[in-house]
Amino acid sequence: MKKHNFSAGPAILPATVLAEAAEAVKEFGQEGLSILEMSHRSKPITAVVDEARDLVRELLELEDDFEVLFLTGGASSQFFMVPMNLLGEGETAAYIDTGTWATKAIKEAKNFGEVVVVGSSADKDYTYIPKACQIPAHCKYLHITTNNTVRGSQFHHLPERPEGCLLVADMSSDIFSRPIDANQYDLIYAGAQKNLGPAGVTLVIVRKSILGNIQRQIPTMLDYQTHVKKGSMFNTPPVYPIYVSMLTLRWIQGQGGLKAMQRRNKEKADLLYQAVEAHPNFRPTVAKADRSIMNACFVADTAAHEAAFLAYCEANGISGLKGHRSVGGFRASMYNAMDLASVQHLVDLLNNFKP
Ligand SMILES: *Cc1c(COP(=O)(O)O)cnc(C)c1O
Repeated sequence: MKKHNFSAGPAILPATVLAEAAEAVKEFGQEGLSILEMSHRSKPITAVVDEARDLVRELLELEDDFEVLFLTGGASSQFFMVPMNLLGEGETAAYIDTGTWATKAIKEAKNFGEVVVVGSSADKDYTYIPKACQIPAHCKYLHITTNNTVRGSQFHHLPERPEGCLLVADMSSDIFSRPIDANQYDLIYAGAQKNLGPAGVTLVIVRKSILGNIQRQIPTMLDYQTHVKKGSMFNTPPVYPIYVSMLTLRWIQGQGGLKAMQRRNKEKADLLYQAVEAHPNFRPTVAKADRSIMNACFVADTAAHEAAFLAYCEANGISGLKGHRSVGGFRASMYNAMDLASVQHLVDLLNNFKP
């Protein structure tokens, strides 16, 4: 029987997407070939990439200046590609450190220019989103991680920034989970394997006008302009992950788009956080105003209760609930594809757990 998949990533995908993706491995449309065997330059495959790109544009209502790219190397490669392409030698970038992924992005940026950490929640073990960050006027860009997948914190308001300071966001774990004003951003990146598709493709959305403004020699494959010019076909793109992501984007649109996703996601998150708060043996770890609607982190009062509840959940069809190895406790990831019924099942187990 299919388990309730609360994994943080790679993560749950819609059942209809998985069924269609499985068919395409056997035979793609009426092509007489598996999608895994087809040239990335063939008509049916370029149509897939075009449709994926168009759906991203439509769902986020992107202005014409934006280019949608499908790259490889994971979100982790964007940690260095962003400063490599945007931050000239001697220039400064501002980062907000909300833990784990943001911390890694900061480390990589330091290889390319000056970095100021304008806000950090390290003092309280990354359990909140820093507020009222002062960003120096000369900063080239501000980088934020909109949702911290490991800690379960999420930006619910955009930080203020000086005129002319670009906004860069790692949206790996909350892209397409809610409407955003995408045109406020200059570069958005997201590894697909959290809320979009399988591992293997990274979505990058970048304003063309911000590229090509620095002196540095950039390796061809790591230069965004290479991929802009070739429509993500400079080399062989990850065709199958792009295809499955395209199916997910179609599914999102069919469900009513980002407003509908937000309604679903909020309903699920509210249900779970309320149950955790009401239980005498558990508590959420993140400050209420900054809690993620994607990844809900919570802890038990004792190590014995933690082990017992995890075992109880695993015996009852729940997968992927254990917190990240660096923080422990529990993490319930409730991405777009998760039904309310799965969260209700977890809440029922929580309510029945009386140690
Ligand atoms: C998972 C994750 C990453 C790392 O993604 P990879 O594709 O494994 O490199 C980066 N940022 C955030 C917010 C993530 O959730």
